[in-house]
Amino acid sequence: MAASNSKNCPGCGATLPPYADTCPTCGMRQPPSQTSWIKRLSPVEVFLLILGSIMLAIGLVAL
Ligand SMILES: [Zn+2]
Repeated sequence: MAASNSKNCPGCGATLPPYADTCPTCGMRQPPSQTSWIKRLSPVEVFLLILGSIMLAIGLVAL
């Protein structure tokens, strides 16, 4: 089974180190391979998450 964490440069097709942020062959800047989980949330979900955190904080202070 081939390692799935290697990636190829979209510009020149060279195989890149897993954590390279620029291609060593052509210098093309690479998109981040894994976005953080919060960036995959929709704006509504982020809003609800923040709202929920605030409500929880208020609840903890009020009690
Ligand atoms: Zn490249």
